[in-house]
Amino acid sequence: MNFENTETVKSILSQPQQIVIIPHKNPDGDAMGSCLGLYGFLKGIGQKANVIAPNDYPKFLKWLPENDCVVNFEKENREALELLEEATVIFTLDFNDFSRTGQMEPILEAKEADFIMIDHHQQPNDYARVTYSDVSMSSTCEMVYNFIVALGGNDKITKEIATCLYTGIMTDTGSFKFRSTSSTTHRVVADLIDRGAENMKIHQQVYDTNSPSRLHLLGVALSNMTILSDYRTAYITLSQEELDKHNFKKGDTEGFVNYGLTLEGVNFAVIFIENKDEGIIKISFRSVGDFSVNEFARKHFNGGGHDNAAGGRSEQSMEQTLEHFISILETYKNVLNP
Ligand code: 5GP
Ligand code: MN
Repeated sequence: MNFENTETVKSILSQPQQIVIIPHKNPDGDAMGSCLGLYGFLKGIGQKANVIAPNDYPKFLKWLPENDCVVNFEKENREALELLEEATVIFTLDFNDFSRTGQMEPILEAKEADFIMIDHHQQPNDYARVTYSDVSMSSTCEMVYNFIVALGGNDKITKEIATCLYTGIMTDTGSFKFRSTSSTTHRVVADLIDRGAENMKIHQQVYDTNSPSRLHLLGVALSNMTILSDYRTAYITLSQEELDKHNFKKGDTEGFVNYGLTLEGVNFAVIFIENKDEGIIKISFRSVGDFSVNEFARKHFNGGGHDNAAGGRSEQSMEQTLEHFISILETYKNVLNP
């Protein structure tokens, strides 16, 4: 974080504030880890803070320290609205545009408070008084670590904070293997372990708590996979019926898209997941190399994200969505076949 931002944050936090911390909708490990890690830090320096999640998140994140303090905007709407009303400072973590908070968007648009953005996605919006945005970062959790260090708070990183931050770095880097994982990331992770993060336990709690039905759903996803070798692309579909049949719970499809990239020669992997409630097909894109799925998702599927991991949506049927998707691949044939 640069000098100017650090000084502004120091001056904001030198006064008692009513702080609200918000992750993006459908929060993942990085979003929840960064919010709860920052929450622990702010409480530790005597500030009043609350975390409001736009909606629910997977069970494999609900063991995180301080998880019980999270207010769910969808389910505990009145409490969330009151907290937002009173807020003087709002941290927005792991996203950079109010639209990523779903139903909370109009409230945040209208709200007057000091917004502080900490985020590593491309093309940040300009709503914040302090914008700490760095697309080269592995995760928002690594940035929250930097944020705490910039404020001179190294000694305030407790075991609980370290656990939250470790979790988000681990999930956002695909367990420390994505391109954004730098030697600095490893140094940060090492420090978090020194401060009490139990790495093996965290891995188990996130990755080894599958239900049998989730693994069966993975089986369905893998057998639904189509490989388009001309485009070095592999895509998976999951219909609402298939999800229902396997007792689908939030988070169950997390990571499925990555299997496409484990195929030799495949540079682009996609999963299309039907959501009848919302009337959409939710799409996840992953790539290796120079094909930017962020640009692809922005241009064609009303989404965005990072160069190698992005998401989007379609309001057409699964069939029409696939037809559209396949028809535009031709334009990218050369980038996909470097
Ligand atoms: P996932 O595919 O795991 O849901 O998301 C991959 C990355 O893309 C994450 O960084 C996530 O924040 C971002 N992302 C997912 N869906 C959307 C979307 O609909 N819009 C935008 N702008 N980003 C998204
Ligand atoms: Mn992230």
